[in-house]
Amino acid sequence: MENLGDIVAVLVGVAIDNPYSYKVPLGMQVGIGSIVLVPLGTRQTLGVVWGRPKDNKAHNRLKDIIKTFDIAPLSGELMQTIDFVAQYTLATKGMVLRTCLPDIKALEPPKPIIAYQLSGEPVERSTKARQQVLSLLSDDMPWTKSAIIKEIGVSSSVVEGLKQLAVLKEVILPSPPYVKIPNPDFAPLILNDEQQSALNALRNQEEGFAVTLLDGVTGGGKTEVFFERVADCLKSEKQALILLPEIALTNMFIKRFTKRFGVEPAQWHSGMTKAQRAKTWRAVSDCSARVVIGARSSMFLPFSELGLIVIDEEHDGAYKQSDGINYSARDMAIVRAKYAKAKIILSSATPSIESKSNALSKKYYHVELKNRFANASLPDISLIDMSQNGPQKDHWIAPALLDEMKNTLERKEQILLFLNRRGYAPMTICRHCGYKFQCDNCSTWLVEHRFANILMCHHCGKAIKKPKICPACEKSESLAAIGPGIERIAQEVSQLFPDANQIVLSSDLGSAEQIKQSLSEIEKGMHDIIIGTQLIAKGHHFEKLTLVGVLDADLGLAHGDPRAGEKTFQILTQVSGRSGRAEKSGKAFLQTFYPNHPVMQAMQAQDADAFYAHEIKIRQEGGLPPFGRLAALIISASNHDEAIKYARILLLAAPKPSFLKNQDDLKIFGPADAPLSMIRGRYRVRLLLQSERNFDLSAYVRFWLKTAKKPLGNIKVQVDIDPMSFY
Ligand code: ADP
Ligand code: ZN
Ligand code: ZN
Repeated sequence: MENLGDIVAVLVGVAIDNPYSYKVPLGMQVGIGSIVLVPLGTRQTLGVVWGRPKDNKAHNRLKDIIKTFDIAPLSGELMQTIDFVAQYTLATKGMVLRTCLPDIKALEPPKPIIAYQLSGEPVERSTKARQQVLSLLSDDMPWTKSAIIKEIGVSSSVVEGLKQLAVLKEVILPSPPYVKIPNPDFAPLILNDEQQSALNALRNQEEGFAVTLLDGVTGGGKTEVFFERVADCLKSEKQALILLPEIALTNMFIKRFTKRFGVEPAQWHSGMTKAQRAKTWRAVSDCSARVVIGARSSMFLPFSELGLIVIDEEHDGAYKQSDGINYSARDMAIVRAKYAKAKIILSSATPSIESKSNALSKKYYHVELKNRFANASLPDISLIDMSQNGPQKDHWIAPALLDEMKNTLERKEQILLFLNRRGYAPMTICRHCGYKFQCDNCSTWLVEHRFANILMCHHCGKAIKKPKICPACEKSESLAAIGPGIERIAQEVSQLFPDANQIVLSSDLGSAEQIKQSLSEIEKGMHDIIIGTQLIAKGHHFEKLTLVGVLDADLGLAHGDPRAGEKTFQILTQVSGRSGRAEKSGKAFLQTFYPNHPVMQAMQAQDADAFYAHEIKIRQEGGLPPFGRLAALIISASNHDEAIKYARILLLAAPKPSFLKNQDDLKIFGPADAPLSMIRGRYRVRLLLQSERNFDLSAYVRFWLKTAKKPLGNIKVQVDIDPMSFY
């Protein structure tokens, strides 16, 4: 360990940017990256030794480090990543560090296990129970007290008694490892030619850091290919991290992993208990966890031998965190891989425009899988023009889709109806006076949930019991549900197909455990018609599913979101990709009001390249990511005028981007009300920045906010670099 002297700079996990100086007490050893407990004000907090202090003068007021832990220091690459994330997202360095620090329990060594062996002393007063213990232990193996009790059913006092008499001696056993090491040779699959050449391309990359877009059709075997790279990583004694966008996908993934590698991987996600997380953290730190499957924050785990990161479904919006630290786990994982000199694989059937164009321009390696495994074909896709061939009033399934549903049921195959809207109806209106139910706290309509008999806001969760009379005109029986949610589709389906077995799936209909149960029922073929939201759209592999109906394929196309085309294409491809994944060929029907939209045309022609070419051209012409950069400042306050007023003050204070050749390279739009102009009682006003590709937007915004007048009262400014959503 490098000797840093007796004063060190310690970064603590609170909202500050710079480390504080602490004294190293005599006899204590710390180095860069050491995790320490330090006093902070009146409390104690965890921190990390960040380096030497800026000013080395010993002053009397400096406090001592309280203690160190017997645990590996954070690796240099993780510390660099923390610095980068803070600098890039404008979060404070202390808060970014906090996402890396575990519960203090993880830092204390696990409790040793006490076991017993015969000491060789004779027993004076032997009883039957004592004899039983002696004969059990006669093989000289150490037994724990609880194991002895369990094996022969004696009471605890028998063991205690023998210990008192020194007939038994204590031995300390090391605690067993929390995770087992996956076996790279457990059950490798034989890859087909296309998969094998994809794997070879990955293996032939230069030493050290490399980014690859693994770009392959759904069901092409991307998972099988990157599993082989995980196996390579295990063989070279390195650690691998696989990021998944949703916990809902974890169980299925773990099953597959276990089948391939013989043991379960370590896990990291919000569904785990604090104690489980502490154990995983420690196992990653001491390198006993060799493969971790995790949600986005697992990119901050204390790996010391990171060799590979896989971002599965790399295009998924869930990788962007939008509260607390606004970071993209995909982008920041690339940064971490770079510092760690590791490989990173971005896997998707529908890559983000950013990754696709980086692959096309050779900034990333581009490895493709163009065919489904075992000649399973991609589904046939048909568009249903809703303005010509739509369903009759107050029905949501068009005749052409209905016919195909009948055929599919006759063949005893499964149907998925997809609608990305939870609840019964997205809006409730009074037919008499036109009153619409809106949330008091947000600028959104209340969604009817008929199972629960409530009207609910999907942004703040506020719910009211569905009233019997209109609150405005007090007429009864006047309230009408407008538009469908999945519960309403379920109603239509039960009327049309009373004999079919249907199941409704969305995140609000059941616990994680119940959803897991439903998914496994579907896998076993127990349901004929599955009606679901986004939850069911990705990752799942149901062999009997051969028809997908997308009831509202237009999704976000009608709104002004610059990513709407991309998101719509991704969801439609994912959902229709659920159809015909095994031997049986599949079909998908997309109900749309825009059959001529480039997204719909590309879907129908199964021409992803055409879609990407079109979308990349639009991005290029508009100077949108990755050809230009965006940042959003959301100014919010409980009073609309105050939010607007402060946004105008900010705008006037915007510094000249003088370090640019050309001032046109930075544009600021707004202030304007955000599309969702109120959430949880706070009004939201937005400034949008657009710059050329090489402009350092983070540095610009940091300088701007530092020099502008500070917001007063309850006004808040939220910075979102590379925003993913525009609501
Ligand atoms: P993707 O991740 O590209 O959607 P998967 O890796 O999930 O594709 O593969 C689709 C299905 O085909 C899975 O059930 C997988 O186990 C199977 N599969 C893919 N490649 C092979 C192979 N070489 N041998 C046996 N089964 C394979
Ligand atoms: Zn009314
Ligand atoms: Zn609300």
